[in-house]
Amino acid sequence: MINVEHLKKSFGILEVLKDVNVEIHPQEVVVVIGPSGSGKSTFLRCLNGLETTTGGKITIFNTEITHPKTNIHQVCQKVGMVFQRFNLFHHLRVLENITIGPRKVLKMSKEETDAFARKILEKVGLAHKENSYPDELSGGQQQRVAIARALAMKPEVLLFDEPTSALDPEMVGEVLKVMKDLAKEGMTMVVVTHEMGFAKEVGDRVLFMDGGTIIEEGKPDELFTAPKHERTKSFLGKIL
Ligand code: ADP
Ligand code: MG
Repeated sequence: MINVEHLKKSFGILEVLKDVNVEIHPQEVVVVIGPSGSGKSTFLRCLNGLETTTGGKITIFNTEITHPKTNIHQVCQKVGMVFQRFNLFHHLRVLENITIGPRKVLKMSKEETDAFARKILEKVGLAHKENSYPDELSGGQQQRVAIARALAMKPEVLLFDEPTSALDPEMVGEVLKVMKDLAKEGMTMVVVTHEMGFAKEVGDRVLFMDGGTIIEEGKPDELFTAPKHERTKSFLGKIL
């Protein structure tokens, strides 16, 4: 579904991604871990076209998005993203937050988008909040709205960038639950998170990133219990 070959990304003289190679298969849940500054967010942003790349190739659904002639917006519509800090529109009600994308981009009617948004809100357990403003919701509820908003674009892949790191501990579970449900339904997901329970329960594969490359990858149980590289061992020693 996603194929990344020799991906490089620099900001000026700072080389953030050095040589990233990975394949993401349909319906796979890939968890990305690694120290702060190792390039995890930049990697996700490259996958949905939020960053231009400096080198290498990213192919999504057989379209090379790094090719200068590709209509990147068309491909990247299929790649949804959920951010650490929700990034909701604060002046819009919950329902409008979810429908604005599909109405503008997918050219769906208000009736269609409202009905679809209500269905998704039900799925994330927030049917009763459609008329609230984001600031009236808890962090966990806001993050579930953000997931609903991403789902409204009918993505084929969802990218999550530390979706629970900005939440109070008691709200982490409700967001992870929604993510687990999506995984069970077969959604393809790339998740940057240090929630090891989630990684073990729903992750098919874990990638450990450090210094702009993938140092090691493996099944969650293997990687967490028997890491091969010193850097992985040392990182896991700090967070487990
Ligand atoms: P992570 O998500 O693993 O913490 P990031 O991808 O956010 O890492 O950042 C990797 C490195 O790239 C950091 O040193 C960060 O300061 C730098 N960086 C990220 N975005 C930019 C940017 N837009 N301009 C300059 N440097 C950036
Ligand atoms: Mg980050």
